[in-house]
Amino acid sequence: MDDNGTGARVLVVEDDESLGAGLVATLAGAAYEVRWARDSAQARAQLASGPADLVLLDLGLPDGDGLDVCRDLRATDEQVVVVVVTARADEADAVLALDAGADDYVTKPFRTVELLARLRAHLRRRDALGQPDLRVGRTRLDLRARRAWVDDTELPLRPKELELLVVLAQSAGTAVRREQLMDEVWDENWEGSTKTLDVHVANLRRKLADAGDRRDRIATLRGFGYRFEAD
Ligand code: CA
Repeated sequence: MDDNGTGARVLVVEDDESLGAGLVATLAGAAYEVRWARDSAQARAQLASGPADLVLLDLGLPDGDGLDVCRDLRATDEQVVVVVVTARADEADAVLALDAGADDYVTKPFRTVELLARLRAHLRRRDALGQPDLRVGRTRLDLRARRAWVDDTELPLRPKELELLVVLAQSAGTAVRREQLMDEVWDENWEGSTKTLDVHVANLRRKLADAGDRRDRIATLRGFGYRFEAD
């Protein structure tokens, strides 16, 4: 996938005119295909007229609670990514939203760059689930089972090592920025330390070599990130 949301269909459900317009402009600028619903009834009508890959859902809507929209949507569509965007900052509200089937919860005000990074990560994960097997060179990944092999030797990977390998392998042959890896594997912004990333890459290299793939598969790109070599 590209570094933006190329082609992904997003429905923004937001009654606040300026916030809604801002979100629509931002998402369209990041190459998403955007629709906008201003209340629950419009959201239901929009979703009935065509599916969305991702729904950005406000909770306080003029004709009801966004959580009801979320529950109904989840009952009929397991694939759609639902990200609740709300002014309700309570932890209890976050739990309610996740229980209602939301994938994520973002409180207002939020940083646009961070929101976009989260959306990319969610969509990438969703895409990975629909693609059970990934082969790159001698490495094979079963994304549903969350297992990986070099030839017939299974790699004893920790969860974050596996996710890192998935992101790198999905972009095999392409340079992946450190920031992107931090976003997608750790759901974090990149202002903190990225030493964790280097440690995980080192572990991954060692495990690939131990499993018999002695060619250094993960190239370090100084000041940029990493690239998984396909052959
Ligand atoms: Ca609202």
